[in-house]
Amino acid sequence: MPSTYVIIPAAGQGRRMGGPIAKQFLPVHGTPLLVWTVRAFAEHPAIDGIVIAVAPDTVEHVRALLHDSRYAEKVRLVVGGDERQASVANAVRALPASCDVVLVHDAVRPCVSAELIGRVADAAKQGCATAALPMQETVKVVEAGVVKQTLDRSRLWSVQTPQGFPRAVLAQAHETMSKNLSFTDDCSLVEALGHPVRIVQGDPRNLKVTTPADLPIVELYLASKTASSRFPGVGMGYDVHRLVEGRPLVLGGVTIPYQWGLLGHSDADVLLHAVMDALLGAAGLGDIGQHFPDTDPDYAGAVSMDLLHKVDKLLRRRGLQPDGVDAVLMVERPKIAPYIPQMRANMAKALQLPLEAVNVKATTSEGMGFVGRCEGMAAQAVARVCPLC
Ligand code: MG
Repeated sequence: MPSTYVIIPAAGQGRRMGGPIAKQFLPVHGTPLLVWTVRAFAEHPAIDGIVIAVAPDTVEHVRALLHDSRYAEKVRLVVGGDERQASVANAVRALPASCDVVLVHDAVRPCVSAELIGRVADAAKQGCATAALPMQETVKVVEAGVVKQTLDRSRLWSVQTPQGFPRAVLAQAHETMSKNLSFTDDCSLVEALGHPVRIVQGDPRNLKVTTPADLPIVELYLASKTASSRFPGVGMGYDVHRLVEGRPLVLGGVTIPYQWGLLGHSDADVLLHAVMDALLGAAGLGDIGQHFPDTDPDYAGAVSMDLLHKVDKLLRRRGLQPDGVDAVLMVERPKIAPYIPQMRANMAKALQLPLEAVNVKATTSEGMGFVGRCEGMAAQAVARVCPLC
């Protein structure tokens, strides 16, 4: 069996991002980009080991980042050079004797899929290969701000990583080309020595984080990647509000004519509060008190239907979406049934769900307890969320 290693050059300063942190250390969902990338390879059955080239002053930092991970023993750190090519060359020298296939992958392409790693690792057993995508946009040669030539797009490919090589070929290329540090990827080195490089179908999600605008997209991709292993998730919600004079009665976003209304910091829509707590619970995101605190004057008199829209957005930013809601209102009076279709329609719209995925029921308490005495109303809900598709 060939033994396959991946080299991740991570010694760069990432100056184009403009911030104080080199971009491979920028956190996404609390985890640095480099760790996301390392994890993708560490968890892949085709990868036997990982060599990361890091700047001399970040060795201890990277060691600490990976120390507690369950794949720490798969990782070897080497000191990189000033240029990417020098970093890869140092990492090639640190490969164990048993390694015969090498992939090279950018530290800041954290969304690389297991399928893509597998495709490149397979191809590299036969010879040099790179992930690439057909060029989507027209490319022109420009000199001094003027177009000189329009290239034939059908022959152009946009190259990604991983790139894969027989170990001997990559080692020889780095030895031979060590005086010329102008190569921007490893395939260019072996091409310069006359080795053919095969194209492997890349992945548009395998984005390279280059500018701050790339981060929210990567955040979304990584959320759905992790979300899919834990979700669909189920959550429950429960809420109670006191009935008082001089307040409107708002339930499920419907204002119901009645002599009393529910008391609260917001519009006190007890049904929506239970539904929001169920959704947040299903997503592992706490409760509405955390997201919309009643000590915050911004939420005084808040329309709960607006907050439901916000919860929907919050889920989607985490790569999740509502999948279904079922709720029960505990109300002695007035009669709720005539208003239920409108409550369902309101919630379905806010959560971007079909009507049949949102159910509302109502029950009395047969005169017992605080609901039965018309001192207050309560609501319970369960909700399911699933990965955003
Ligand atoms: Mg409440």
